[in-house]
Amino acid sequence: MKKEIKTYNPYNGEHLRTYEIDSKKALNKKLQLAESTFNNWKHLSIAQRIELLQNLANEVDSNIDELSELISLEMGKPILESKSEIEKCILLINFYIINADQFLQDDLIDTEAHESFISYDPLGCILAIMPWNYPFWQVFRFAIPTLTAGNVALLKHASNVTGCAIAIEKLFLDAGFPIGCFQTLLTDHDGIEELLEDDIIKAVSLTGSEKAGKKIAEIAGKNLKPSLLELGGNNACIILKDADLDKYLDTIVKARMQNSGQSCIAAKRFIVVEEIYDEFLDRFKAKVENLKYGNPLKEDTTISCLARKDLAKILKDQIKASIDLGAEVLTGNKSNGAYYQPTILTNVSSKMPVFKEETFGPVAAIIKAKSEEDAYEIASNSKYGLGTMVFTSNYDAAAKRISNVEDGAFFINEMVKSDPRLPFGGTKNSGYGRELSKEGMLAFVNKKTIYIN
Ligand code: NAP
Repeated sequence: MKKEIKTYNPYNGEHLRTYEIDSKKALNKKLQLAESTFNNWKHLSIAQRIELLQNLANEVDSNIDELSELISLEMGKPILESKSEIEKCILLINFYIINADQFLQDDLIDTEAHESFISYDPLGCILAIMPWNYPFWQVFRFAIPTLTAGNVALLKHASNVTGCAIAIEKLFLDAGFPIGCFQTLLTDHDGIEELLEDDIIKAVSLTGSEKAGKKIAEIAGKNLKPSLLELGGNNACIILKDADLDKYLDTIVKARMQNSGQSCIAAKRFIVVEEIYDEFLDRFKAKVENLKYGNPLKEDTTISCLARKDLAKILKDQIKASIDLGAEVLTGNKSNGAYYQPTILTNVSSKMPVFKEETFGPVAAIIKAKSEEDAYEIASNSKYGLGTMVFTSNYDAAAKRISNVEDGAFFINEMVKSDPRLPFGGTKNSGYGRELSKEGMLAFVNKKTIYIN
């Protein structure tokens, strides 16, 4: 077992902090505390829990600058994007402040009984395993509905954002949430795998890679515990001949390049019909080359380094293997340490890693399609199922495709993105279960049938 976690600034390699790992005894203490807190927390009224959400929104709001800086320091996100991430967390809290009560009300069902209904009871202590790419957003979108429904949470965050993990726990405490309601664990994979087997943990939510999802789902399954998995994606972005590039080109570039390309829902495969192919490529290339690389802490930086050096190495290998199979570099492809230059690859085929695998960095794989039909067919050729987006002026034709898209989301003239009001999640190897909206609030509850004769 590891003894410590070290965090680094990926932009300059500077060591940020060293954290001591929780001992077995400390982990066990946190588990016991979670359980005892749950026994009181579950009896609070929804209104009492919502009151704390209001405090939390205020806490987050009054610390927005420090929290954004922490994100940028630990994982290299350009500072303005870090601020947007924190603002989105506040939006999410406010959404549940307004809607939680209604979402958690008993659902009356008409039967022969005198009265029958579904009541939504919390499950208990839920383990969250979270990634570094949106270190606040991913945790909040799990924690806010889960805690408001009456559960308590234990967080295993990605080790490179341990400072964020600790800051999140502090926010909950400063907002007045009872000690033990939300706790951060400082441990490694072995520690988590063992913890998941403990009876106190009632379910697990993991956002991360396919590999981690399979491992955690296996342990959860063996122990008959529900799991929710938000895994990788390889979203297709279809550009049809009538796409309004004047209006949507910035959105299309953002769909791939936001967060320096490290987003599960990013457009990764650009499938462009031949009638618009040359025009799209010229204009897309110009925009991509115009992105301003720099220090994530500077406000004029629009793209920065990846979150860790090893991630740039993985990307480099995927691109090299694709070039060996015939892909061509239209722009970019220089790298150094955690830096990866925004890259466009053309002549991409379905055999290449940049088509088959998730690329977690600023790399756009371009595929030419013969027709609209061909474009949708290429788009669906993926083991992932997070989302598909299409840019077209023909809404009616796009709407007819809705039932054929097998993904968790289909966006027309917009990049795939999460919104507290709408459910979020994938199909196929992108995972299962839904977060956000009413769905997210009911992800970890006992939907109890009540029958009164
Ligand atoms: P990762 O390597 O799978 O790590 C995610 C989290 O799981 C980290 O906290 C990691 O801890 C932990 N973990 C990994 N294997 C584990 C194991 N065997 N036991 C216990 N914990 C384990 O993924 P990542 O590189 O951080 O994140 C990028 C991936 O997340 C991409 O595939 C991306 O698409 C996906 N993602 C999906 C969504 C979505 O909503 N669908 C959103 C964001 C990201 P350590 O840091 O200690 O390794």
